[in-house]
Amino acid sequence: MIIINILHIGIDDTDSPDGMCTTYLASQIINKFEENGINLVDYPRLIRLNPFARFKTRGNGGVSFRIPKDDNVDLAKKIVLEEVEKLSMFDCDNTNPGVIFYDGEITEEMENYAFRAIYKFITIEEAEKLAKSVGCEIHKFKKGRGIIGSVAAISLPLKDYTFELLTYRASENYGTKRQIDYDSVYKMDKETFPDTFENIDYSEEYIAIEPKTPCPVLYGIRSNNVESLKIAKDIVQVSEPIADWCIFKTNQHTDMHIQKVSNISSMEQFGCYEIIGEVKNKPKIIDGGHMFFYISDDSGEIECGAYEPTKNFRKLISHLRPGDIIKVFGGIGEQNTFNIEKFQVVKLNDTEYKNPICECGKRMTSAGKNKGFKCKKCGNKIQSDKKVPIKVTRFLKNAQFYETPVSARRHLSKPICRMYLD
Ligand code: ATP
Repeated sequence: MIIINILHIGIDDTDSPDGMCTTYLASQIINKFEENGINLVDYPRLIRLNPFARFKTRGNGGVSFRIPKDDNVDLAKKIVLEEVEKLSMFDCDNTNPGVIFYDGEITEEMENYAFRAIYKFITIEEAEKLAKSVGCEIHKFKKGRGIIGSVAAISLPLKDYTFELLTYRASENYGTKRQIDYDSVYKMDKETFPDTFENIDYSEEYIAIEPKTPCPVLYGIRSNNVESLKIAKDIVQVSEPIADWCIFKTNQHTDMHIQKVSNISSMEQFGCYEIIGEVKNKPKIIDGGHMFFYISDDSGEIECGAYEPTKNFRKLISHLRPGDIIKVFGGIGEQNTFNIEKFQVVKLNDTEYKNPICECGKRMTSAGKNKGFKCKKCGNKIQSDKKVPIKVTRFLKNAQFYETPVSARRHLSKPICRMYLD
């Protein structure tokens, strides 16, 4: 239960593909708060919502923070609204900011709403109805779609969480190549992993802390704790000014989007799940480099996909064989295919059935349907049609997790290095 002497502030949908970032806006507000003696309770929060949401700019993130109610609440609200007016990318059709102020207790209904905003699609009307019913102060700009994310961002309980340190560029450098010393990023990763993670995709030599968009972020480092972020920031060298930086508490890398269901037929399109199934066929690669196979259980079957951007992950997938039992984590997308984020081997099928070996040592061939086997070398025949089981050595290992590379991973996906933390 969260104490009620607090003002919750939620902000979402302020940026566009051409620029801005709601976290940057939040950091500007926090600076203004500090100048005016308004202090936050805990870290600001960056909350990732449904990865399939239609109007997301990039990672579908909303931001929230909390201040004590005895601080200057009216001034705080004025600062928030002024900064949203000043910095939002209003020219973009898809930028429809929403701001929520709420000074009550976070109710169970609000928490359930927040999980729905991660699992399902929510309408502006639904978000507004809930916000009004609990007494939120609602500010919609243009269509105000951002209130969907703002209400969720203040309401989501964070049982498991991580942190992200975001550094911001000087505005004159927006859109130019980021001046980050990559060697220092390798050093930082070496010295702080696994407290920090997702810094580098070694298989692709891809520096994951560096955004590829013209947004104000210079780099972002993700971690399990704040101490390692501070160490990491001291190690990473840049040759452009860091105009500002801010640490967010976040549901990134917690698998919060993954729902547990009992069987394959209970899963729905645009939902993310973990599910156990038996591999039905050898994975096949198609034009474009995407790889597909089916898994099944008593309730039905579903096609699973590892897409081209998942690169070497497809090699791991290609080692699966019919009869393997695996737990897959991922989401059902546009094509109704289960896009795999990671999988764990539950039980490998290490038995293969082959034609018997003849007394002369040669492997026999089929003598025709229901006619047993014959030996091409010595002419020997046997009546039985039964193939013989042999043990095969498998590349994959029982109980082991296998995951997509950092470059193709979702913000919400829990990396293997966090799987054993509980
Ligand atoms: P960035 O990550 O760069 O901050 P973004 O990807 O978060 O950008 P937004 O600009 O915030 O994208 O737009 C996402 C929009 O989707 C917001 O208006 C948000 O309120 C809305 N939204 C979030 N979750 C859902 C949901 N479950 N159903 C419908 N709409 C949602």
